[in-house]
Amino acid sequence: MMIDLRSDTITQPTPAMREVIAQAPVGDDVFGDDPTVNELEAYVAGLLGKAAAVYMPSGTMTNEVALRVHTEPGDEIILDSESHLYYYEGGGPAALSGAMCRLIQGTKGIFTAGELVGALRPADPHFPKSKLVCLENTHNRGGGRIYPLSTIEEIAQVCQRHDLKLHLDGARLWNACAATGIDASTYAAPFDTVSVCFSKGLGAPVGSALVGSEEHIQRARRFRKLFGGGMRQAGMIAAGALYALKYHRDRLREDHINAKSLAQGLRQIEGVDLELDDVQTNIVLFHTEVMPATALVQQLREQDVAVLAVGPHTIRAVTHLMVSAEQIQQVPARVEAVLRSH
Ligand SMILES: *Cc1c(COP(=O)(O)O)cnc(C)c1O
Repeated sequence: MMIDLRSDTITQPTPAMREVIAQAPVGDDVFGDDPTVNELEAYVAGLLGKAAAVYMPSGTMTNEVALRVHTEPGDEIILDSESHLYYYEGGGPAALSGAMCRLIQGTKGIFTAGELVGALRPADPHFPKSKLVCLENTHNRGGGRIYPLSTIEEIAQVCQRHDLKLHLDGARLWNACAATGIDASTYAAPFDTVSVCFSKGLGAPVGSALVGSEEHIQRARRFRKLFGGGMRQAGMIAAGALYALKYHRDRLREDHINAKSLAQGLRQIEGVDLELDDVQTNIVLFHTEVMPATALVQQLREQDVAVLAVGPHTIRAVTHLMVSAEQIQQVPARVEAVLRSH
């Protein structure tokens, strides 16, 4: 059987989740009539300590709608150069909001308040207007790195002083919470809007939510509709998200233990380069100069291990709900076999 570590997006609804989905009461969500969507939105807003939430089909949509909520064409957003918003959303900031991206080269996805101050521009008609700062927690291309809360709070202070809004791409915020024991509402407090995902590690089939003030979320509903994300009997999928939020958050700790044990196994292999301290949540990045990453990925696939190449010599493996500790234990030996045979 394939040990699929390509992404935590491959997780499928469990039998218990499917049961809840089958029973979910539904209505027309664009009219505000879907009781399951309404319950999900109230529940996730409560978890994050914000006034309101809006359910959308994807994390790309919640992020892109948030940008549109906070900016007008020509405005500038400030974000890490490896951030999902910049790297993986099809040019959305330019295409959907007409926003300029000002990039900060963070360290494994994390930049500091000092680095933010360095990127700010004075008010001057020559410059685009800086409007929004975006952070990502945990950081995908940073290898699942957790944004330190104190750094977030320092950045929020800079934003307040300079009248900048602050958005969190929290697709894997639940992982940060499980790893640190810090409440989602504590992490969310410094932000104006937060995007969270239900279909990654939590294992729901579809969807993300954007969370924030009544005013911001009302505006977000308008852009959700404009971008084509107004859904009808969405309670069918919201039920899975609600179930996942209630019952699958705590178990993310197992994924983190599995990631650590995978990393421990991999770093014993000659030719594999990996820092154990870099593995903070459910993502393991490792490097090898023995062969190109794409070739390693291909040959591992023949050994029933699926991973992704995320750089010429960098491989990503993600642990999640559908891989067991026993399966994880088999992976290092297969990686070693492929590297040896090369
Ligand atoms: C997956 C991901 C998204 C986008 O989510 P989709 O639902 O796949 O559109 C946004 N941000 C981060 C950090 C992600 O990992």
